[in-house]
Amino acid sequence: MPRLIYACTLLLVSLFLSSAPRAESLLLRDARVVDVENGAITRGDVLLRDGVIASLAPDAADAEAADNRLDLQGRYLIPGLWDMHVHFEGRELVEDNALLLPVYLAYGITGVREAASNLAGTVLQWRGEVADGERLGPRIFTAGRKFEGIDSLWDGDREVGTAAQIRAGMDEQQALGVDFIKITENTLQPELFLETVREARRRGLLVSSHVPLGLDIFELTGAGLSSIEHATYLLRLGHPGQAGIARAVRAGEMSAEQARAAYDDSFNQATADAAYRRLAAAGVAVTPTLIGGRKLAWLHETNHDDDAFLAYLTRDFTAQYQWRIERMAGETAAEREARQARYRLVAAQVPALQRAGVTLLAGSDSAALNTYVYPAAALHEELALFTEAGLSPLHALQAATINGARFMGLARDYGSVSAGRRADLVVLNRNPLADIRATADIHAVIRGGEVFDRARLDALLARAAARKQALDNTPRD
Ligand SMILES: [Zn+2]
Repeated sequence: MPRLIYACTLLLVSLFLSSAPRAESLLLRDARVVDVENGAITRGDVLLRDGVIASLAPDAADAEAADNRLDLQGRYLIPGLWDMHVHFEGRELVEDNALLLPVYLAYGITGVREAASNLAGTVLQWRGEVADGERLGPRIFTAGRKFEGIDSLWDGDREVGTAAQIRAGMDEQQALGVDFIKITENTLQPELFLETVREARRRGLLVSSHVPLGLDIFELTGAGLSSIEHATYLLRLGHPGQAGIARAVRAGEMSAEQARAAYDDSFNQATADAAYRRLAAAGVAVTPTLIGGRKLAWLHETNHDDDAFLAYLTRDFTAQYQWRIERMAGETAAEREARQARYRLVAAQVPALQRAGVTLLAGSDSAALNTYVYPAAALHEELALFTEAGLSPLHALQAATINGARFMGLARDYGSVSAGRRADLVVLNRNPLADIRATADIHAVIRGGEVFDRARLDALLARAAARKQALDNTPRD
């Protein structure tokens, strides 16, 4: 008897959770399916069943038997977008970040790679809640806390000063079930940095990092690094003496300042291109994260006051922007020009990396600390910057779909509109291969087979805006 009550309760709960739009099978009528592998566009029907793409060319009987149908009227169907570099951070900003999770869905982003956070426990909880259907948001892949040296600048790091501490930290990360390892270079010494990469690889974990001045980029890739975060580091590869400079820094024969001066104005594209081919051969991916540098380099002449996205960011969230704005205010015209020239040079590396065969991952680096890099919206801006720099729209789209899924080892489940993949999809009003800005012109989002039409997406956005207002109006200690 209690068992029956339990079963009935379960049934009620699942009916409640699944609500109306999630059908067992759904026929998407008249879609223009974008094949992100090769850029082919095929017009036809797509059958979804139990949250999975069942068939791209369902036979008449299956199509007829579908529980529900949605006529896309020739609109473009792409895989859900993945932002491969975000941060949900700020100990005082838990609710402020949480309200943004549904906003990601409204922007067509069905997956995020969270590249470390001082809210690691909370992020892991959100990951589970999203996976269980208890919270609306993108699927989350997280690094948890990042590895750093002792007394690092950042809050919440896993600080390590010995190989034993690296192993203990890695044990904890694995016990928590993080999706990859992230390392940054504030105080972590080069030898320990390399050892952290090796330890992660010994355990079969993906590992992403910045690049310390004291390490040759190819020492890192030789140790098994999976991805380099931020293309700014790659400018060092335009100097033929990159390895020697790293050795000199590590030996204490060269200061960080001297190393930076050596790299400045010494960039040679042909030297860099040859190095990129080595990166490609080593199988290392790169997440360029252009948008943050772009925003800062033109900060002085951009008025952000009327940015629509501010509707979703609490006052406490955008208060984090101030330190950078204040620091930038003292910049001279010459410094600004140098910053803009540097941005252009970094952006030009994106198509160069693609030509060399390096896997590109589209990531915004959106975080409360990254001024005007708006969560969710910034991924679309990043893709536009990729094409502005000379990347084709198809390669930009790959960087936000199939490349991320492959990188995570999940291409059997995600990243393309093909049979057997999860039904995480975005319906666009325009062709993204003609203009990548079409990724922001969203008609509907499908997440695990559940349809969010435009009205439902707008309702998610309205709820997020109301939540922001409520938080702003609540005194917090
Ligand atoms: Zn970051």
